[in-house]
Amino acid sequence: MSIRLTVTATTWVTPVVRRVHFRSDDLSAFAGSVQTDRYVKIVFPKPGVEYPEPLDIRSLRGTLPPEHMPDVRTYTAIFPDLDAGTVAIDFVLHGDEGVAGPWAARAQPGDTLLVNGPGGGYRPDPEADWHLLVGDESAMPAITAALDVLDPSATARVVLLVDRPGYEPVLPLPANGTVTHVYRSDVVGDETEGLLVRALRAMEWPDGRVHAFVHGEAQETMHGLRPLLLKEHGLARDQVSVSGYWRRGRTEDGFRAWKSELAQAEAS
Ligand SMILES: Cc1cc2nc3c(=O)[nH]c(=O)nc-3n(C[C@H](O)[C@H](O)[C@H](O)COP(=O)(O)OP(=O)(O)OC[C@H]3O[C@@H](n4cnc5c(N)ncnc54)[C@H](O)[C@@H]3O)c2cc1C
Repeated sequence: MSIRLTVTATTWVTPVVRRVHFRSDDLSAFAGSVQTDRYVKIVFPKPGVEYPEPLDIRSLRGTLPPEHMPDVRTYTAIFPDLDAGTVAIDFVLHGDEGVAGPWAARAQPGDTLLVNGPGGGYRPDPEADWHLLVGDESAMPAITAALDVLDPSATARVVLLVDRPGYEPVLPLPANGTVTHVYRSDVVGDETEGLLVRALRAMEWPDGRVHAFVHGEAQETMHGLRPLLLKEHGLARDQVSVSGYWRRGRTEDGFRAWKSELAQAEAS
């Protein structure tokens, strides 16, 4: 079932991350959603196209030419409060390209969004000895939500990729939590690939069993960080939530196509 969200306010998390606060008459779909990486699929109707009401993306498939289908974008839904009917989404503003980023840059109180979900797959394991949380700005909301549910005595190591000094978010770290910031401004041009891998290699690992959450730009995450964790550190699959959240140079649809090509190549 789709949920209609109405913007109530916007705030800044960093100079490039805009938090949009929403209200909804019905957030019951979030009841029982315990994953901290809970995400929704935002449906953006194509301008100028008339859709049947209520707008249901599944029933539209096959009935409209592909170019008339709404755009769908995936975002982490944070701080859902079912009683208050409130939830927030942190949008990375990444320029004029795309649908969701530009929408968030212009969002004003009263604007509405249609979302489906939530889904999700990770919550910090309270039995783990320590927690590793790694990502770029797109993963910051899920990392924030994970830190929020940690026991105050938990051990956490956060490694975050941001543009430059001054672009770091305030995170709800436990007392035994540290954050290492990695800056794109430290490299020339777009050659940021490998920055997180280098930071993780340089990091001193606490003792004991780790539970890791590692998400962000796909190339960096899947080709850099995943082998580092699974092969070099020998972590078991159930110790790591690792995947790309977006892919440089591709829209979300292009990214999805790349992911299924990758999965097919790995299976063959
Ligand atoms: C489970 C999940 C949760 C996610 N949660 C969040 C979240 O909470 N906040 C968030 O901001 N993103 C999140 N993302 C990533 C988000 O879905 C993508 O960034 C998406 O591509 C943005 O859509 P768009 O319409 O703005 O740009 P698109 O139309 O998809 O892409 C247009 C261009 O912008 C580039 N681009 C897309 N995202 C970024 C970026 N972050 N930085 C720089 N360039 C970019 C693309 O490579 C492409 O060239 C999440 C993704 C997943 C899978």
